[in-house]
Amino acid sequence: MTHKGSCHCGAVAYEVEGEIQGVIMCNCSICHRKGAPLWFVPRGQLRFTKGENVPKAYSFNKHVIKHLFCPTCGIHTHGEGTDPKGNAMAAINVRCLEGVELDSIQVTPYDGRKL
Ligand SMILES: [Zn+2]
Repeated sequence: MTHKGSCHCGAVAYEVEGEIQGVIMCNCSICHRKGAPLWFVPRGQLRFTKGENVPKAYSFNKHVIKHLFCPTCGIHTHGEGTDPKGNAMAAINVRCLEGVELDSIQVTPYDGRKL
């Protein structure tokens, strides 16, 4: 199915293709602060309907992951990076998606403190 998502002010909107099998709750220094449950999908399943070039990227440490957020409302919409095989991936903040019942989604903790 197609999930629609956006930042708070609406400058950034996207659609994500696929079923949400589960989300990752990462405890690295930035995810811990943001508290966003992340749904990992191949980057090709993420399609912007508005403001693709709007999000600003924040990265730290090894700079392998781009943490993207709307510069107007500050909402973390998604992250981008590559998986261990080098495939482009996106990590969707499921709290930005419409109609998603977080209580019904399996949450997997991830020890990202070394990222
Ligand atoms: Zn915004």
